[in-house]
Amino acid sequence: MSTTRVDRVPDAVTVPAGSSCADVVATTGLPMTGPNAIVAVRDADGLLRDLSWKPGEEVKVFPVPLSSPDGLNILRHSTAHVLAQAVQSLYAEAKLGIGPPVENGFYYDFDVAKPFQPDDLERIEVRMREIIKGGQRFRRRVFPSIEAARQELRDEPYKLELVDLKGDDGAPSAADSAAGELTVYDNLDARSDEVRWSDLCRGPHLPSTRLIQAFKLTRSAAAYWRGNEANPQLQRVYGTAWPTREELKEHLRQLEEAGRRDHRRIGEDLDLFTFSKEIGKGLPLWLPNGTIIRDELEGWARQTERRLKYRRVVTPSITKDELYYLSGHLPYYREDLYAPIDIEGEQYYLRPMNCPHHHMVYKSRPHSYRDLPYKIAEYGTVHRFERSGQLHGLMRTRGFTQNDAHIYCSAEQAKDQFLEVMRMHDAYYRALGISDFYMVLALRDPRNTAKYHDDEEMWRLAEQITRDAMDESNIPYVEEIGGAAHYGPKVDFMIRAVTGKEFAASTNQVDLYTPQRFGLTYHDSDGGEKPVVVIHRAPLGSHERFVAYLVEHFGGAFPVWLAPEQVRVIPLASELREYADEVCDVLLGADLRAEVDRGDSRLSAKVRAAVTRKVPLIVVLGRKEAENRTVSVRYRSGEERSMPLEAFVAQATELVRSKSLEGAGHQ
Ligand SMILES: [Zn+2]
Ligand SMILES: [Zn+2]
Repeated sequence: MSTTRVDRVPDAVTVPAGSSCADVVATTGLPMTGPNAIVAVRDADGLLRDLSWKPGEEVKVFPVPLSSPDGLNILRHSTAHVLAQAVQSLYAEAKLGIGPPVENGFYYDFDVAKPFQPDDLERIEVRMREIIKGGQRFRRRVFPSIEAARQELRDEPYKLELVDLKGDDGAPSAADSAAGELTVYDNLDARSDEVRWSDLCRGPHLPSTRLIQAFKLTRSAAAYWRGNEANPQLQRVYGTAWPTREELKEHLRQLEEAGRRDHRRIGEDLDLFTFSKEIGKGLPLWLPNGTIIRDELEGWARQTERRLKYRRVVTPSITKDELYYLSGHLPYYREDLYAPIDIEGEQYYLRPMNCPHHHMVYKSRPHSYRDLPYKIAEYGTVHRFERSGQLHGLMRTRGFTQNDAHIYCSAEQAKDQFLEVMRMHDAYYRALGISDFYMVLALRDPRNTAKYHDDEEMWRLAEQITRDAMDESNIPYVEEIGGAAHYGPKVDFMIRAVTGKEFAASTNQVDLYTPQRFGLTYHDSDGGEKPVVVIHRAPLGSHERFVAYLVEHFGGAFPVWLAPEQVRVIPLASELREYADEVCDVLLGADLRAEVDRGDSRLSAKVRAAVTRKVPLIVVLGRKEAENRTVSVRYRSGEERSMPLEAFVAQATELVRSKSLEGAGHQ
């Protein structure tokens, strides 16, 4: 990453009434060009404003540098305007949708006769460069009335729709900026001040297109207007923009790496999973190879949980509405549920989560303080409504199976139990070579009382237990106000992937609220009946998301214990097939997953085939090996070693048993 970033917010600047912020900021010595150029200001109310803003009275403003998060949004959204101008100059019939900034970039939606092809994007980029070089200025203009806006935008049907929504839903906006007025941004020619192009927008924008130093259009894809499948399909062009060429280059490298590691492509190439039109979107078919990975992870979780005294349960996937009225999923989370199934006049739902079932397991028997902590685990399958536009390979599906468990304990035990859950995450991640992770403590926003239950003491206690456990875990964490669930604070584990992406791996909670709703209690030593505390946890997330992550993490080159095929046996000649079969049988007998390549191709082609399939151990058998009962092993590192068959079996078995990461992720 570039070292040009400013690491602190510039001091506030006082702007006299009637002066432009640009003029005043320029006198402070702050840069007005380059990667740290001041491109906008934030006023005392927190609103972002253009640099050209002239306040009616003396105000204090905070300069916004290009390289700050706000500055990057403004840069990217301004680049989206340039993109739209370029598209309309090349494709006169193109109608405009919206063009907001997104993480690391921007997009703009267009209604065009046919989808953009890669050479279209190249043409558009060339045009964009011309516009940028021309140094057009961005000028904010307020529509005198909605009628005036309608008149000016009469040829832009989608913009008209936004005007009718008063621009407050889905309208382009770089960030929270001056609202309440209907505004348009004109692009003015640097010399003549003539209007070259305009767009309905709240702004703010860069002062000039010349500040766009490094951008690239990355791809285009179909997208429905306002995300609704009932609306017309538009063409969305994605791009990215950065303050410097170096940052753009690094970002494109990460994108390329992400593309190479895309779990959807590797998943198909290695026959891990697939999708079928007849079965439906977002409903993966786990192929035999993928099922092996899933089973191995599940076996690992069971072993880990057994040692920590969890007990396994099995509960049904569909359930009467009564349970969800009790849990509050109905009516509050109805939009996450699929439509009910009528069975003999009763309404049943596909379950969206396992918690209520586990609570009913707990509730089905009386519990004494001696039973606590009572831990029940289930790799439970759930279904949640997702729009088809949101689906993404195994990362976002409509049905998934979670590494779920609930711990029922006393309030006194809760901190240690939650700490145990955090240590469990830590151990799992380290065993997989995941070292870059942290926690997010999502707290309630005390001002938003409607969203959260109102038992103050309960919030205080839940936060206390959670924070105490987090502090003791020594795992770094950040706090986020407003992200809590209705019933309590949440702790999300975030992993930073090799591709630079962040991945929310699991959500955990200390829950004091649900036991009250469900009447979950235990009989204490003093004879009283007391409410339990519930800890929700799912360290390995869901199979779908976690395997998707692991595919990208290892780039398909799984450690031996997870590799669907662990050993490929290659006989050098057809008369050696008998020995190859014998070697394979010995490996299978030792619980290793081995296959013999019986093809007729040359050795180099066979080795290449095994490497392409990411098989970690390749065993080559020649006459000498058959005579001496030895094997010649080729590792992912390229190293080769000869050894007695028994020694190889012992070595491979140890790689599996120790969950060794040797050679894992080797590309
Ligand atoms: Zn705009
Ligand atoms: Zn739960």
